[in-house]
Amino acid sequence: MNALAATSRNFKQAAKLLRLDSKLEKSLLIPFREIKVECTIPKDDGTLASFVGFRVQHDNARGPMKGGIRYHHEVDPDEVNALAQLMTWKTAVANIPYGGAKGGIGCSPGQLSISELERLTRVFTQKIHDLIGIHTDVPAPDMGTNSQTMAWILDEYSKFHGYSPAVVTGKPVDLGGSLGRDAATGRGVLFATEALLAEYGKSISGQRFVIQGFGNVGSWAAQLISEAGGKVIAVSDVTGAIKNSNGLDILKLLKHSVENRGIKGFNGGDAIDPKSLLTEDCDVLVPAALGGCNQQNAHDIKAKFIVEAANHPTDPEADEILAKKEVVILPDILANSGGVTVSYFEWVQNIQGFMWDENKVNSELRNYMINGFNDVKEMCKTHHCDLRMGAFTLGVNRVARATVLRGWEA
Ligand code: GLU
Repeated sequence: MNALAATSRNFKQAAKLLRLDSKLEKSLLIPFREIKVECTIPKDDGTLASFVGFRVQHDNARGPMKGGIRYHHEVDPDEVNALAQLMTWKTAVANIPYGGAKGGIGCSPGQLSISELERLTRVFTQKIHDLIGIHTDVPAPDMGTNSQTMAWILDEYSKFHGYSPAVVTGKPVDLGGSLGRDAATGRGVLFATEALLAEYGKSISGQRFVIQGFGNVGSWAAQLISEAGGKVIAVSDVTGAIKNSNGLDILKLLKHSVENRGIKGFNGGDAIDPKSLLTEDCDVLVPAALGGCNQQNAHDIKAKFIVEAANHPTDPEADEILAKKEVVILPDILANSGGVTVSYFEWVQNIQGFMWDENKVNSELRNYMINGFNDVKEMCKTHHCDLRMGAFTLGVNRVARATVLRGWEA
């Protein structure tokens, strides 16, 4: 089942539990606006290259639409649609005053030079600048993009609309980015995992973690989890997978990965088959990459807890198999909401014209993650459902309430 079908299925299940009116249900599901643009740039060798860029603005009942921009060769309209919808429920679960959006360009960023990436980002911004804005739609980084990408969008947007730092989040700190934003998704994963484990009388310390993905989210999660006393016993990225049952030295692994553009060849553990990573014996599995738990591997997953640091890493078929095995899944729209939550703090700081120190950012983030977790748990009790449905019913209910309050009068 593709990402859009799976996300819509979860939404419909939540709508049923909430007994939403069918017309309201339909209106919540259909995206507010879908943008598809052609982006042609001259490459460094003088030849032309054409790419397709997307921005799906899913819902704005609770505030400006919010979500990342992804550069990846697998970006397609259905996936961007699903991810935009997930952002709507995620911002509502986090209880931040936003709607949801997502964008992407189908490209292989690793095969483009820095100047080609800059040209591509500027052309994309030229095509969508009238449709984004501080109070309409605020992009941020996602897979394959980073603070530099946001700096280019900010600069290009500002040529048309005047200097507007709050039009993007996840910017470099020198341009109004927030302290703590870079680590925020990983730190949110830590806080959410702490809250989840505490429910079972456990703490991070002493648990064995396997982390799939060592990009921004996976590497920060690994670092913070091991600082908190968790034993990260296996990690993978696109170059390979590495295991050390005594716990990997994450700081050394990070250094190796920066110097060698990947974890392959790290001598602090044994290389293992990346395909077997998800089925390694561990307590907590953290998918933080594209792809993840599916029908093929779900039967063999040994973790007791899965914390979805990535967006949509578990196929619905895998969800069912894992539920039967009583694996507890902390869903993406709660587990990885730390990134967009600190994006909100960044936007607030830009609008206030006042910069918070990092302790304030991290302690506010902790409050939001714990409140989100507790609110989800309440919904689980009310609707007798698992954490994924608890998060979906919470998010969908908040958006539905805002939609009804605003009304439809033309
Ligand atoms: N791309 C991140 C996400 O999927 C962050 C979005 C944002 O900060 O707007 O949640």
